[in-house]
Amino acid sequence: MKGSIVLFGPPGAGKGTQATRIVEYTSKPQVSTGDMLRAALSNGTELGLEAKSFMEAGELVPDGVILRLISERLKMDDARNGVLFDGFPRTIAQAEELAKIAEVSAVISIQVPDDSIVQRIVGRRMDPETGEIFHVDFKPAPESIVNRLVQRKDDNESTVRNRLKAYHEQTSPLATWYDNQGLLIRVNGEQTIKQVGDEIFSQMFSVR
Ligand code: AMP
Repeated sequence: MKGSIVLFGPPGAGKGTQATRIVEYTSKPQVSTGDMLRAALSNGTELGLEAKSFMEAGELVPDGVILRLISERLKMDDARNGVLFDGFPRTIAQAEELAKIAEVSAVISIQVPDDSIVQRIVGRRMDPETGEIFHVDFKPAPESIVNRLVQRKDDNESTVRNRLKAYHEQTSPLATWYDNQGLLIRVNGEQTIKQVGDEIFSQMFSVR
């Protein structure tokens, strides 16, 4: 597939989890603005500092900051055949700017109702060594690595509610925006990881 693919959905929908399989299949690199911002923050860069208070409050980081990150990332060599965006774009303004600098071939919308989101996010844990995401109930980590797992600072209930609010107010209108361009693929995110992946693959690439 030519061009870039966008993984779209509320926080905790499983975008990062599904990204792994799509990256393997398409060889397009995953570009997660959330991961890039967290890296900037832990490296103490100026951009990280600019983003910090928004992230901790569960609000969207201003478009200008995000677009600076993305335009730098897309200049890199591995982005020339398109990338897999995860968590970007999140506003119509971001999508409009993206359309000027890259071609979007498909937008995969992973649909999960609000009721499930909080439970999913609050139980989410990450292995800092591999970046793999686990869940205390739905995807328990092997006993041997449980002690090194970490929880994201913004994965607590009150921040999640703000992130959901930002999603509904600023991000979800993008689904209609992309649907009007014939790019939106809807997938039921309330299934097992494998079933969600299979649905993505059968709709996108006609394979399972
Ligand atoms: P994520 O890892 O995608 O859930 O992102 C974590 C946080 O980073 C979000 O709650 C926002 O504060 C910020 N963020 C990530 N991507 C974007 C984006 N495209 N636009 C604005 N803020 C973002």
